[in-house]
Amino acid sequence: MIKIDKKITKYRVEKPEDRIAAEKAAAAVSAEAERRKESKVIWMHEKIERPDVLIGSTYKIKTPVSDHAMYVTINDIVLNEGTANEQRRPFEVFINSKNLDHFQWIVALTRIISAVFRKGGDVTFLVDELKAVFDPRGGYWQTGGKFMPSIIAELGYVIEKHLQFIGLLKRPEMDEDRKKLIEEKKAEYESRAKQTDAFAKSHFPDGAQLCLKCSTAAVVMMDGCMTCLSCGDSKCG
Ligand SMILES: [Zn+2]
Repeated sequence: MIKIDKKITKYRVEKPEDRIAAEKAAAAVSAEAERRKESKVIWMHEKIERPDVLIGSTYKIKTPVSDHAMYVTINDIVLNEGTANEQRRPFEVFINSKNLDHFQWIVALTRIISAVFRKGGDVTFLVDELKAVFDPRGGYWQTGGKFMPSIIAELGYVIEKHLQFIGLLKRPEMDEDRKKLIEEKKAEYESRAKQTDAFAKSHFPDGAQLCLKCSTAAVVMMDGCMTCLSCGDSKCG
């Protein structure tokens, strides 16, 4: 017998199918846990020991705000090699530069990013966090016409590129129609304004405005409508 010393405000009669459903759900959870344990699949976590050899990729960042280039190295670990669960994950990051102005911050940042990589789970949030950092002194333009709000943001883009390269992040795919439309519009615009500076580094037309969607100076007026020649964003849908 159960003594109820609180006021009864709500009640429900347990149906036999409720009990069956609850038992089924509990069984599914323990089966999944059992499967994970038995399958010997290794998941990324802090206790994974660093192997002697890791695969590395080094990215060069040259910004107009510093005389020296920065070299960002991301080393990856391959988990469950040779099995169906093979997965390449970032393991650590190093930044090298002759410029020692920000040395302590760079060391702190790389250690924290590496720690996040080794924690496992979803690490792709780092990309958005870094890309959203603005330098209060103002950002700069990359060759090619992309606006970088800060060096940290550029590091975010580098990590994004790397995660896309190893398959942890999907590359944003533009559909074929949109790609074709951009190419057509670009050709049309360029044939209209042939006298553009041959020495301009940007591959987008002179006088193009900044696109708020992809931060590239590639927005031009086409048929009475502002259209981005980089990502295809258009004010007219
Ligand atoms: Zn755009």
